[in-house]
Amino acid sequence: MKRTALALLLATVGLAPALGAPNSPATPRLILQITVDALRGDLPTRYAHLLGDGGFRYLMEQGIHYNNANYLHANTETIVGHTSLATGGVPAAHGMVGNVWFDRELGRMVYNIEDADYHLLSADADVDQATEIDPTQRAAKVDGRSPEAILSSTFSDELAVHTNGQAKIFGVSVKDRGAVSMAGHAGKAYWFSKASGEFVTSSYYGDRYPDWVLAWNAADPAAAYAGKAWELSHPRADYLFGDTDDRDYETDFPGYGRTFPHPYGEADDKYFTTRLTLGPAGDALTLDFAKALLVNEGLGQDAVPDYLAISFSSTDYVGHLFGASSLESEDNLAQLDRTLADLFAFIDAKVGLERTLIVLSADHGQPEVPGYLHELGIHKAHHFDTDALDKAPAVAALKERFGIGEPLIQAFFQPYVYLDQDLIRARGLDQAEVEQAVAAELAKFDGVAAAVSSTALRTGAQPDILLMRAILRNFHPKRSGDVYLVFEPNVFIADFDGLKVASTHGSPWRYDTFVPVMFAGAGIEPPAGHKPVSRAITPYDIAPTLAARLGIKPPSGAIGSPLPEVLGAIAPSLTEPGMP
Ligand SMILES: [Zn+2]
Repeated sequence: MKRTALALLLATVGLAPALGAPNSPATPRLILQITVDALRGDLPTRYAHLLGDGGFRYLMEQGIHYNNANYLHANTETIVGHTSLATGGVPAAHGMVGNVWFDRELGRMVYNIEDADYHLLSADADVDQATEIDPTQRAAKVDGRSPEAILSSTFSDELAVHTNGQAKIFGVSVKDRGAVSMAGHAGKAYWFSKASGEFVTSSYYGDRYPDWVLAWNAADPAAAYAGKAWELSHPRADYLFGDTDDRDYETDFPGYGRTFPHPYGEADDKYFTTRLTLGPAGDALTLDFAKALLVNEGLGQDAVPDYLAISFSSTDYVGHLFGASSLESEDNLAQLDRTLADLFAFIDAKVGLERTLIVLSADHGQPEVPGYLHELGIHKAHHFDTDALDKAPAVAALKERFGIGEPLIQAFFQPYVYLDQDLIRARGLDQAEVEQAVAAELAKFDGVAAAVSSTALRTGAQPDILLMRAILRNFHPKRSGDVYLVFEPNVFIADFDGLKVASTHGSPWRYDTFVPVMFAGAGIEPPAGHKPVSRAITPYDIAPTLAARLGIKPPSGAIGSPLPEVLGAIAPSLTEPGMP
């Protein structure tokens, strides 16, 4: 075993060409980690009637498709899921407990990857408060971004450590948090600025852009969409939702509308770049940038494995605006399938799929839109009205009970309620008692399934059920709030700071935790009969699987286990009997 490990080490740093030989499937030259933002686990098969060759079908038919993977943490949001994919751990370990949290030292809400120490390298690329529709992005008070808030190592970090920094590591996404999380602390990240229409980065990653990035941005590929529209990619009769495009619960985003075609508008329209992200164009731009990166950075060209993470964001935005069960989501998936096929063909030509280990998953799933469920006779579904909380006499009653004249609740951003701990201390009150009283009042609201006191949770004063474990896995003492609010299934807040959207994920319920996990390439053999693997796994297994496949140590906060079906593809020379 020692000899094998040493041989593998030497192979990956290029000192032992015999093991890292170009044609050996043993050591992949490229790890391609694809994240499809908000791709619920059932969606690729539900819309399979629109899939062509070489995209999802390549992954599902030539690779290994795990169709029973669920997150085990409670707050199924984008940065939480991405960081869990990157680290193989839960938010309690990696610290990304939500897209935003209340920083008790700064005394304000912070955006997960904002960092005042590292400014953007581009001017005028900061979040435009006037047009940004993502309320979590708007929470950022500085333009800088970095992975410094991620508290455990990522797979990509471990790859850098293992190879003495020789592995090339990149993360790309429309969303900053989709790129920064996956690139880890040792890689480089690029994301799309809706303000400037460019792919940008921050000074954390370097002082200047490589020439190829400047050239890509100067060519302004986004401008090619000016005056065009998102059109259906198949004949209308081919769609499940072909006859039900216009539904009043879909979001009527300015200038974009509820029905096909959805116009992008002219390039000088203030929402032009935003509209590109609200449909397949955002993924197409991401693909184009990733291709340029792969070629110009020379990924996968030598025996040292490189890492490229691509997070496709469009599925998430389309889901928020139109719901998972909509003509828009259906066509978006069909077009994503073509984007994946294009990517895989490109990588096959430049690196070779037999030398590329591909894994695809999602950061969370998606709920159904209450209006859609109502049409089907499923009535217990609604958007939760946060104004009801603000106007509630319950909070006033609480303050009276505890003799507090000042605001007791410092901040509320789903799922956490932050109490003013200093005030509670100053009044000589018992933190746990106040938390319990607040939780008890919140639990009375229609649509609230549970309001859980953090102190009670940490001290084991809550029943040891799956929901409590999920909230505990989400708990970080410096970032989590004092009460965790869980809505009933199919109930959620749909207010994006004034823009009413159709659906919002983030719950601990199965529709939000359920994601696909697919591995392919690099000599991976599909299971017998090309059937999906239905054993329950978690997305936390992915990073440890990648680590085990390369023979490197798992990330520091990983709790997942290597997936044996994937490791089965290791060439016999790299395994020995009895190896655990
Ligand atoms: Zn997401």
